[in-house]
Amino acid sequence: MDYPGNLFVVSAPSGTGKSSLVKALLELDSRLQVSVSHTTRTPRGQEQNGREYHFISKDLFSEMIEHGDFFEWAEVHGNLYGTSRSAIEERIKGGEDVVLEIDWQGALQIKKIFPNAILIFILPPSYEELLQRLNRRGEDSQEVIDLRMHNARIEVAQAQYFDFVVVNALFETALFDLKTIVHAQRLKYAAQRRNKSGVFKALNLL
Ligand code: 5GP
Repeated sequence: MDYPGNLFVVSAPSGTGKSSLVKALLELDSRLQVSVSHTTRTPRGQEQNGREYHFISKDLFSEMIEHGDFFEWAEVHGNLYGTSRSAIEERIKGGEDVVLEIDWQGALQIKKIFPNAILIFILPPSYEELLQRLNRRGEDSQEVIDLRMHNARIEVAQAQYFDFVVVNALFETALFDLKTIVHAQRLKYAAQRRNKSGVFKALNLL
């Protein structure tokens, strides 16, 4: 399946800064669209249904699995998360670039379905720094932080299966790296042939 739109999949251990980086990337690049996942977890803070997530019950999630509504789904930190087909297929077929912010299990499932998906793993500069960031965030209990640190080691070990790795030591540098990856995809031959068809025709390029 070679669709005109790009599918970027971003994964990282929690506390790495993935959400802030993706948010900043989307603000800078109006051609990028984010896909809103479904989850069985309850909304946090200011989160709104349909904006951060589609918050649904476990029963509805199970029904959606049975109907084959998800491209991928996974259990993360005890909750279910999934990417619905309708969230991405039509859009990348229509030439739009879509970003998925999902865990590594989902990312590897997506790569099997869309081998052209671009998998990006964001790493923290060190485990010490990750722990400090989780503590600074002040959102989680000690138990949850311990679990996240335990999971982080398992998650980091998956970075080797991703196409690109960005180290988030300095936010601006990591953001620049992400922009560069997105930009490079748009310079690929097939993309340029589509986007610069006039130039290609004038140069008798197929
Ligand atoms: P949070 O509950 O903190 O928003 O997200 C927890 C984890 O679930 C994060 O790693 C996030 O990227 C991941 N996640 C969010 N949506 C999806 C999804 O649709 N599929 C998968 N596999 N993971 C997701």
